[in-house]
Formats: sequence, structure tokens, C-alpha cells
Amino acid sequence: MDCLFCKIVNGDIPATFVKKTELITAFKDITPQAPTHVLIIPNKHFENIGQVSNTDANLTAELFKAAAEIASELGLESYRLNINTGADAGQSVFHAHLHLLAGRAFAWPPG
Ligand code: 5GP
Ligand code: ZN
Repeated sequence: MDCLFCKIVNGDIPATFVKKTELITAFKDITPQAPTHVLIIPNKHFENIGQVSNTDANLTAELFKAAAEIASELGLESYRLNINTGADAGQSVFHAHLHLLAGRAFAWPPG
């Protein structure tokens, strides 16, 4: 399967890793939208977060736990978790991922 994030998990494409466990990998976004912009992904390929949730509740929990741990490790008091699901919602890489964004004020509602 030709998946960019699977290649990052496998080490075929380099990335700046923030956390790696048996189940998840976190790395810096190549085009950061905030001073902190980390992507948290399951090591196993799922097209989107809905497929993860429908398949593996433990893995869903691990993704959110990793986000909270990274936020804590980075000393973030405020941060935004963003999950684009489907092209109209802004998803461009179809391997499930959480965006962890911090370091500036964010607008609401999102654009
Ligand atoms: P999406 O638009 O699917 O919600 O988010 C995909 C994210 O992946 C984007 O923020 C984009 O900058 C990031 N991205 C795309 N290609 C690469 C890459 O090769 N390496 C890294 N680290 N991030 C990437
Ligand atoms: Zn993948």
C-alpha cells in the first residue's frame, strides 16, 4: 500500500519523532500550523479515526493518551486536538491522525 504515514512508521521516510510505542507514533508536522504541531498516528493503517474507533477502542484510547502525555511533556497549558475526517473536512493524508497544536491562540469556530 502506498501510504505516506505507513512509510514514516516503517522508517522509509524520515520524520522528527516525538513518541513511539508498540501502537502509536508521534512526529512533527512537516508544515507546522502553530509553534507546536505534532501528528499522532496508529502504527497500523486505518483510513480515518472513525475506522479506528469502530475497530479498536484500546487503540483509540492510546492515541488520546499519547496526545495528553505529549502535551504534559511539552508543558502545554492550552492546546488543540484536531482530527480531519474526509476530504471536505480537510483530510489530505488518509492514514488516521490527530493534530496536536499549541503555542498560539486559535480562533473558533474553525474555518
Ligand atoms: P490532514 O490534512 O490529512 O488532516 O493532515 C495531514 C498533515 O500531514 C498535514 O498537516 C501535512 O502538513 C502533514 N504532512 C504531509 N506530508 C508530510 C510528511 O512527509 N512528513 C510530515 N512530518 N508531515 C507531513
Ligand atoms: Zn498508512
